[in-house]
Amino acid sequence: MSSKKKNRLRIVPLGGVGEIGKNMTVFEYGDDIMILDCGSMFPSESMLGIDLVIPDISYLLLNKDRIRAIVITHGHEDHIGALPYVLKDVNVPVYGTRLTLALIENKLEEHGMKADLRRVNAGETIKFGCFKVELIKTTHSIAGALALAIHTPAGVVVHTGDFKIDFTPIDTEMVNLPKFAELGEKGVLCLMSDSTNVERPGYTMSERSVGEAFERFFKKATGRIIVATFASNIHRIQQVVDTALRFGRKVCFQGRSMINVASMALELGDLNVDESMLIEIEEIPYTLPEQVVVITTGSQGEPMSGLVRMATSGHRIEIEPEDMVIISATPIPGNEKLVSNVVNQLYRKGATVIYESLADVHVSGHACLEELKIILSLTKPKYFIPVHGEYRHLCRHCELAVSMGVARENAFVLDPGDVLEISEDEAQRCASVAAGAVMVDGLGIGDVGNIVLRDRRILSQDGIFVVVMAMHKDGTLSGLPDIISRGFVYVRESEDLIEDAKSVICDTIYDMETAQSDWNAIKNTVRAALRDYLYNRTKRNPMILPIIVEV
Ligand SMILES: [Zn+2]
Ligand SMILES: [Zn+2]
Repeated sequence: MSSKKKNRLRIVPLGGVGEIGKNMTVFEYGDDIMILDCGSMFPSESMLGIDLVIPDISYLLLNKDRIRAIVITHGHEDHIGALPYVLKDVNVPVYGTRLTLALIENKLEEHGMKADLRRVNAGETIKFGCFKVELIKTTHSIAGALALAIHTPAGVVVHTGDFKIDFTPIDTEMVNLPKFAELGEKGVLCLMSDSTNVERPGYTMSERSVGEAFERFFKKATGRIIVATFASNIHRIQQVVDTALRFGRKVCFQGRSMINVASMALELGDLNVDESMLIEIEEIPYTLPEQVVVITTGSQGEPMSGLVRMATSGHRIEIEPEDMVIISATPIPGNEKLVSNVVNQLYRKGATVIYESLADVHVSGHACLEELKIILSLTKPKYFIPVHGEYRHLCRHCELAVSMGVARENAFVLDPGDVLEISEDEAQRCASVAAGAVMVDGLGIGDVGNIVLRDRRILSQDGIFVVVMAMHKDGTLSGLPDIISRGFVYVRESEDLIEDAKSVICDTIYDMETAQSDWNAIKNTVRAALRDYLYNRTKRNPMILPIIVEV
């Protein structure tokens, strides 16, 4: 390898580009690799039975010895969700802020794992190999979010992480805009920036505006108030608590992850609640309804969550007509139906329901167009890579960067596995590395592939039709075949169909010319005959499974 080649920074996104989820980016220089974020993604609807999707890390496994560290920008699932799977194979130190690490620790514990977690603060600089990484305070929908300035021998890469520019943040610590400006003055080689809200004009509203909306609704409420939001949105929870305090209401946390994260945040001091304000679920019946606020999970309509169980009478707190329910979140794409189901259910119970399309009880955690412009104008990067967005978001963000002075040939829309090599004077795409989606189902990681999914799809659409044939060695039937079927037709009401199917099987075997025990040939012929017969009779295509028992 030429020394020129060695002096290049390689940027390899393994996820999080062309999709919102499973964020993971590899930075390589010489012998050193650092990884930024390690997230998971919700499975798409076609991934039947899949629990989770994580990035394909085979490229990292090939370069294991060179990996120095994993740096995590913040504690959302799309940035930490793959850690338990990745750390099993790549055991390196993980850096993050206080709340981020607490959430990671909690997640690793669920997997019975421990890791080398190293707590850092915004404002600090950490070093590994030839990388020197400055941690920059930003604001987002979770406390402790970071942007990074990665100093490499090739130049400085600024990565925004997920961010918005909130001038009145709940923790009163603003985005460190002066740092972005300082880096821009000294020269930024490449900017990688959050693209989630590039299609939205203007500025994202401050988190504080949600508090004002809470105030308005708390004023109107006559009975209990139930607020559903993301457990990790500590600042949102803080605002519910503060509003409750002003209205003389006590707070009860419900839902496993809400209770977990809230008690963790209380311990860490990220959440401030006076002990005397907290009540247990057992105390609710003995507390006046107008003095109760329940903060729960379920803002995404997740089937087992607190709110959904309250709405469907599967919870000790049952929704009553006097209750006001505030859903303080927007549905993540794909969850719209679940959320609309729970809203309908809450209306059925007679409750007053406040949800996003009716009120300002939620704001986004991601920068809108004008905020993206601020970051571009402060950092003045030579190269630009939009991240954290679907393909169209990345294209729009590139257009924005170009309109603000980045040379068109210096703005790159990357796909997972693409490799961009950057030096001071040029950037070029190189041969891609393996990347994609690895599906997690139960304890299996990556063992479910397209063939298993295809079978699941057929089973879920048309069911299964099992034929058990007792046969002699010479390939003749010893009796009538047995048929077992699930999810195809209701067997007891389809006796004719089943009897006729048996005749089809017998005729098929009788007609077969090979009067010998080529079991596979027999199975294939029976399967083909049955497929035609069943399709003609029902216009359905169940999975047909012939089984031969030799007698
Ligand atoms: Zn985030
Ligand atoms: Zn994210």
